[in-house]
Amino acid sequence: LVVLKSVNKHFGALHVLQDIDLTITRGEVVVVIGPSGSGKSTLCRTINRLETVDSGSIAIDGKPLPAEGKELARLRADVGMVFQSFNLFAHKTVLENVTLGQVKVRKADGKKAEEKARALLDRVGVGAQADKYPAQLSGGQQQRVAIARALAMDPKVMLFDEPTSALDPEMINEVLEVMKQLARDGMTMVVVTHEMGFARSAANRVVFMADGRIVEEATPDQFFSNPRSDRAKDFLSKIL
Ligand code: ATP
Ligand code: MG
Repeated sequence: LVVLKSVNKHFGALHVLQDIDLTITRGEVVVVIGPSGSGKSTLCRTINRLETVDSGSIAIDGKPLPAEGKELARLRADVGMVFQSFNLFAHKTVLENVTLGQVKVRKADGKKAEEKARALLDRVGVGAQADKYPAQLSGGQQQRVAIARALAMDPKVMLFDEPTSALDPEMINEVLEVMKQLARDGMTMVVVTHEMGFARSAANRVVFMADGRIVEEATPDQFFSNPRSDRAKDFLSKIL
């Protein structure tokens, strides 16, 4: 569903992504872990073209990502993205946040968009907050609204970049539960996270990055019990 071939990316002299080959199949949940600065966020951002690449190719559902224009907007809408900071529109209600993109990008009918938004807000457990503004919600609630907003676009794949790292501990689980449910429902997901419990229980595959490279790919069982590379062993010894 998502295919990256020899993707390279530099920031000035820094080679942040080095020959990245990665194929994500439909329904797969891939957890990306690795030390700070290893290029995890940059990888996510290149997949939905928030960053350009210097060489290599990225295709979504068989279609190469175009450089710009309407076609790009359409393909980008196929990729849902949830960030560490929730990035909701502060001056729009929760319901409006989840309705807007459907109407603007997907050209949905206003009434249908609202029905769908309410159903999605119910699904992530914040249906009762629909008419509030983001600032009136807890961090965990805001992040669940951000997930609902991304889902409203009917994405083919969802990217999560450390979705729980800005949350107070008691709110982390409510967001992870929504993500686990999404995984069980068959959503294709790429998740950058430090939540190793989530990686163990929800991931089909763990991708370990260091210094802009994919150093290791394995099932969670293999990776956590028997990492092959020294970099991964060293990383796990620090966090587990
Ligand atoms: P973290 O775990 O801290 O979020 P990360 O693995 O997500 O780290 P990236 O954010 O992808 O790492 O950054 C990889 C490298 O690229 C870092 O050294 C970072 O400083 C650098 N970098 C990221 N964005 C830019 C940018 N816009 N301009 C210049 N350098 C950048
Ligand atoms: Mg990052």
